[in-house]
Amino acid sequence: MFFNLILLQEVNYIPKKGVKFCIECGKENISIIENRCRDCYLSSFPLIKQKTDKLAIKICKECFNYYHRRWIKPRETEFNNFLNEILEERIDTFIQAQEDVVVSFDFDITARLFWTNRKFDLYVKGEKYFPEFGENLITNLTLSIKVMFTYCDSCLKLRSGSYNAIVNITRAKQFNESEINYFFKTIEKKVEKMQSQDRMAFLAKYTIDKRKVKLCFGSEKIAKTVAESFLNQLGGISREHTTMTPKSYSKGKKHDKLIINLKLPPFTIGDVISIDDVPYLIKSVNKDIINIYNLPELKNQIISLKDKIDFRILKARDELEKFTVVSIYDDIIQIMNERTYQTYEILKKDELLNINIQDKLTGLVYNNQVFIIPKNDE
Ligand SMILES: [Zn+2]
Ligand SMILES: [Zn+2]
Repeated sequence: MFFNLILLQEVNYIPKKGVKFCIECGKENISIIENRCRDCYLSSFPLIKQKTDKLAIKICKECFNYYHRRWIKPRETEFNNFLNEILEERIDTFIQAQEDVVVSFDFDITARLFWTNRKFDLYVKGEKYFPEFGENLITNLTLSIKVMFTYCDSCLKLRSGSYNAIVNITRAKQFNESEINYFFKTIEKKVEKMQSQDRMAFLAKYTIDKRKVKLCFGSEKIAKTVAESFLNQLGGISREHTTMTPKSYSKGKKHDKLIINLKLPPFTIGDVISIDDVPYLIKSVNKDIINIYNLPELKNQIISLKDKIDFRILKARDELEKFTVVSIYDDIIQIMNERTYQTYEILKKDELLNINIQDKLTGLVYNNQVFIIPKNDE
């Protein structure tokens, strides 16, 4: 009996000729779009979709300007209307809607929770009439929106006159664009993290020269945090001093401004330098302590930037040569420089034991000798 039941059900699923059926759930004799019934259509093609997983609104904590492509002065002052105004501008950046879908939204948050929780739920509804179904279909979404408090352009300008600490970054080698970007990305992250406890945690102004970047910060704390982060990532030596003005004396302040001078080494991780004609790979940096790898002797060493060691840069990481393994016999590996097509023979030392023909290696030619960068340090 049980067996029969299953058979019957299966038979029911085979559509009769000319009968409309849903390719997802098999329902028959119904209205369909894209071969799907109403419910299956909605789950396959929701009327609205969340665009990105980072949903936020940015508001100036000083003047309540909000950000949408640029800083905008709100027309509304009452909280609900104010939030509504911002969301009306921002909603298109949060969701993607099918053609002709009417989008509406709602929220249920008090002003107090909004300013303290810094996030809220936004209920979004997408609605569209489908003549095929003879009714309106609806997709509902609940979006979690982050509220970010920062300073708008004009408030920042007002504050740019007031800074208490300067970080000067210098290096013998010119900064390139990606390094400058790295500086500002790091500052942005630290400022965002510290702003809630330190209202002077902001970058007031800066200047960029080829070999010097000057950063003026609102507070000493943010300046120290940023400088520390640069030192840990790039290595270098840091010296601090303070300045004094008659005005600060009369105010009873211990000092006027804190100055942090960071001297970065001209190399970064992955570069190859030479000391006394021996090539070394820069493996890691931590403030003035640099871990280097002796390429001829295949061993790790440590140097301190404070020791004023005489070195020169042989190759920056992205200038290193590429080699292909051409053949291997016994303990000799033959490799070819991909740029010059010149071939070299190297000894099959410990680190090259697992090498196969056609493998790619990175290294450099120095004093007519080839040095290969260990695989995990490339
Ligand atoms: Zn269906
Ligand atoms: Zn503002």
